[in-house]
Amino acid sequence: MQSSYNPWLVAMSFVVASLASYTALDLTGRIYVLASPRLRQVWRMGGALALGVGIWSMHFVAMLAFSLPIPLGYDFADTAYSLALAIGASYLALCLTTHTQLTAARLVGGGAFMGLGIAGMHYSGMAALRMSPSISYRPAWFAASLAIAIGASSAALWMARALSNDDARHVLRKRFGAALVMAIAISGMHYVAMAAAEFAPGAICGAAAGVNAAWLATSVILFTFAILIVTLLLSRFDARTSFLVGAVSKLNGQIVRLATLDTLTGLPNRATLTERIERAIHAARRQRSLFAILFMDLDGFKTINDSLGHSAGDQVLAAFAQRLLICVRAGDTVARLGGDEFVVLSENLASRTDAAALAEGVLERMRRDTWADSQPLQVMPSIGIALFPEDGDSVDTLLKHADAAMYEAKRAGRSTYRFFERRMNEAATRTLQIQNALREALAERHFTLHFQPKFDGKSETLAGAEALIRLHHPQLGTLAPLEFIPIAERSGQIVQIGYWVLREACRQIRRWIAQGLPPIKVAINLSPRQLLQADLVPTMLDIVNAEGVRCEQIMFEITETVAMQDAARTIEMLREFQASGFEIAIDDFGTGYSSLAYLQRFRVKQLKIDRFFTNGLDAHGEEGSAIVSAIIALAHSLEMDVVAEGVETESQLHMLKAMRCDEMQGFLLGKPLTAEAFGDLLRGQTLTADAC
Ligand code: C2E
Ligand code: MG
Ligand code: MG
Repeated sequence: MQSSYNPWLVAMSFVVASLASYTALDLTGRIYVLASPRLRQVWRMGGALALGVGIWSMHFVAMLAFSLPIPLGYDFADTAYSLALAIGASYLALCLTTHTQLTAARLVGGGAFMGLGIAGMHYSGMAALRMSPSISYRPAWFAASLAIAIGASSAALWMARALSNDDARHVLRKRFGAALVMAIAISGMHYVAMAAAEFAPGAICGAAAGVNAAWLATSVILFTFAILIVTLLLSRFDARTSFLVGAVSKLNGQIVRLATLDTLTGLPNRATLTERIERAIHAARRQRSLFAILFMDLDGFKTINDSLGHSAGDQVLAAFAQRLLICVRAGDTVARLGGDEFVVLSENLASRTDAAALAEGVLERMRRDTWADSQPLQVMPSIGIALFPEDGDSVDTLLKHADAAMYEAKRAGRSTYRFFERRMNEAATRTLQIQNALREALAERHFTLHFQPKFDGKSETLAGAEALIRLHHPQLGTLAPLEFIPIAERSGQIVQIGYWVLREACRQIRRWIAQGLPPIKVAINLSPRQLLQADLVPTMLDIVNAEGVRCEQIMFEITETVAMQDAARTIEMLREFQASGFEIAIDDFGTGYSSLAYLQRFRVKQLKIDRFFTNGLDAHGEEGSAIVSAIIALAHSLEMDVVAEGVETESQLHMLKAMRCDEMQGFLLGKPLTAEAFGDLLRGQTLTADAC
């Protein structure tokens, strides 16, 4: 029997196929990114409905475009059945392809379902014609239609998913192109399947009494368009809303992270720590249990930061944070308060011994272990411990007391731990007072210089002076440098104070010269922080030049411990000083661990024996004097002068003279004096020839 097609309806079937394909692509790309499983399910069902109707209607319209020389109609039940098949196949295909993991097996499975569904729909739609005799199919064309249906569906689903992973640019254009390809495949399948059908001559259509075909075609097309467009719009709208919801919740997450975590280390920050300690207080009260706050401050961190730069400092902090997490127990909280301050909150302890064991464990591992991180430096903390309930019952008090104990650990030589004791409170308050006093001291002229005389070992005549700083505060009284220099060192104020000391010493030298007194060599102490200043020597030189003093009249003292900390750098610095004409002394010799090789390379003018050894001359008998005479012999062999510090007794003076010590300094011979008093001393003395 000769068949024909209405070209308008064929074109329309293709448009419906394209729109259905586009909807399918849009949905498969979107459903799998939805976070809520419930929402995914709703969209799968809605999508399957729209997609099924779309594909079915493409076929139905294409069927309506088909005509035979006999009247045609469609059985309602069979037609409805073919629609249900289309929707069911779409649903299964969407389920399979919108899993977050789209494996190859799932893709082929989904494609096969959809392809068989489409084919089933087509052939049951054909059955709705109720032809008699029934339609026969050419096997090769029939098989080809099945293969096209399955192949096209798999390819379409794959395209849909690939496009959804694509970057946002041109995605609409690509999706549109893919929809056209898919529409060609679906239409191709239909028309191949139609070509497979053979209608027997004289056959009649058993469902011909049905409705008007043109009217049916228009309503099906309109209805399908409506469903597909509404689905698309809803999907777009929902995509926007879930995008916004996603963005807002992501932002919320970031805000929460910023507010609760430290950005550099990822550890809880101060706010979070405060909250956890508050919770710990409540829990410990209820259970009558004990917890500890371990306050940690890194030793020498400021030096690292100043000498290696801030980014190196940040790396050290991050590495320390990771190491600390490894050292503590699983349930402990490790937080960063800011700077180089960390806190560990350790709950449910049996006794204070547990806290001590924790601190010892941290120190031990930090000292001994090699770490997997890229940070080569060994970073040690000083640790202060406060316990709840005995050391305080509020977050502030506990942190303050742990901090005070940490300071005590620093004073005790660093890289150690201390438990809080009541007396430390006073020390902490005093530190705070001194910090405040230092802030105004330079501007308010609260500093003065005292000068302690140094005497020649042979002739006992004046050989020079050491400038020693004093802080006179209206409320705190006169403070000794041992109390305020470490605090100024920590805050960095020592740098400015150091320049003031040199300027003041120079001015005093000039005042003495103006009074007609002989020129005298003044020794000035340098502290570690000053030595890290890159422009230290040029600045010192500028000051001396500006004050009109000769460099030979100034000698700088560097303690042995500081000199040995970074001996290579010290040598560089010493060369710079010496090249400018300044002399150098190694102060407090014997308290650090000198390497003789370096000592030789320092090539300094003087070695000042620490007063511990001078004192040992009396206190440690023969052993004491053996050490001092060995130091003197060593210094002489390296062509250095020796100054004995802290000479307090006649017997010490006597022994030192016998050992041919070059110079003596101590309360026995002269205490640190005010500038006027030292001027008087100068006036009364006959200077030795090499005093200057
Ligand atoms: P230093 O450089 O070793 O200074 C000697 C200290 O020993 C001085 O203490 C001095 O008063 C004290 N002394 C001298 N003879 C005797 C004695 O016979 N017996 C006893 N028991 N002590 C004696 P002072 O003035 O308290 O200074 C302490 C330290 O503070 C100094 O040790 C020095 O390291 C530091 N310092 C002092 N002035 C300055 C300064 O201007 N800048 C810096 N960076 N540090 C300073
Ligand atoms: Mg000194
Ligand atoms: Mg000294």
